[in-house]
Amino acid sequence: MLYFHIPFCKQKCSYCNFHFSTSLRGKDDMLNAIKKEVELRHQELEKRSISSLYFGGGTPSLLEVRELSGLLETSAKYYDFDADIEITLETNPDDLDADFLKALSKSGINRLSIGVQSFFEADLRLMNRAHSVIQAEDAIKRAQDFGFDNLSIDLIYGSSSLSIWQRNLQKAVELGVPHISSYALTVEPKTALNKWVEDKLVKAPNEDIQNSEFHYMSHFLQEHDFIHYEISNFAKKDFYSKHNSAYWNAAPYIGFGPSAHSFNGKRERSWNIANNFLYIKGIAENRRNFEKEKLSPKDQLNEWVMIGLRTLRGVDIKALKSSFEEDVLDEFNKHLTSKKDQGLVVEEEGFLKIPQVYWFLADGIASDLFLI
Ligand code: SF4
Repeated sequence: MLYFHIPFCKQKCSYCNFHFSTSLRGKDDMLNAIKKEVELRHQELEKRSISSLYFGGGTPSLLEVRELSGLLETSAKYYDFDADIEITLETNPDDLDADFLKALSKSGINRLSIGVQSFFEADLRLMNRAHSVIQAEDAIKRAQDFGFDNLSIDLIYGSSSLSIWQRNLQKAVELGVPHISSYALTVEPKTALNKWVEDKLVKAPNEDIQNSEFHYMSHFLQEHDFIHYEISNFAKKDFYSKHNSAYWNAAPYIGFGPSAHSFNGKRERSWNIANNFLYIKGIAENRRNFEKEKLSPKDQLNEWVMIGLRTLRGVDIKALKSSFEEDVLDEFNKHLTSKKDQGLVVEEEGFLKIPQVYWFLADGIASDLFLI
């Protein structure tokens, strides 16, 4: 799997603390550096064949299609793309005009993830999104007209009321998108939203309302033939995101670009510096500015449990047994017993799972199982 972090956005959304710049100055230098990083690091992945490539950010749809194609061409020099490779582009609705989509439909990019967030103007203004509701609806329909059937939209819940959220989901279903990723609005440090909440200009999201909205979403979308395959992700049959599914299966991946993370599939994780200038400078000097960590067996088990328990599939007990020493498993089983007794974790056909009714609490349940 390959991931490209494109660190540019048109404007800063009020809730976002990702790494990006709102100035496109230096875009060419950045793209050249990312291409060079591909060249410098291509041997890090043992497997040359690639089943998924993902442009994230930031807002990669701010790039021109020829620039995205340039990154694909560089990747294709060093990796073999599987015949059914999934190539996803994260997009914002205001970038998806007809010219862009037409060129994109010939680029090899075959999956779009559109940052809609809400079909209500008041929500979009609260989030300081760069697009309007009309732009979002038009972008989805236009993308479908240009043949992008493999389409995902992002929606954020917890920004207003349950009834608004219900209408958001209804709209998503009516538009016929086969994949929805949905996240709770959270107040992150150093964001505009955090400041507004501190200054009492805006109320902090209410967890009880978010809980109701999460459960409503799960039922409603399953009634409309979506599979709730991960806490934040819903897909129609055959529309699971290959890229995310591979992350959840602990597959190795390389992330290119500032702040991008990489994982060698074993115990080593690394992340590039989250600073555009220092990232480009390092690559120009043929070195990568990054940090890394080696996961201990306990860290690795904690990750498997955290990620696996968020999925419909669950945590593969056989894989756990074959990957960890007995002392680590014994300690884990001690923690597990109390969760099983409370009915918060169940064992089904060789997998550990959290019953869906408790999914909203999954991160807390998983972290109670962590080994220290
Ligand atoms: S467009 Fe995406 S990455 Fe950029 S500020 Fe908004 S949420 Fe963050």
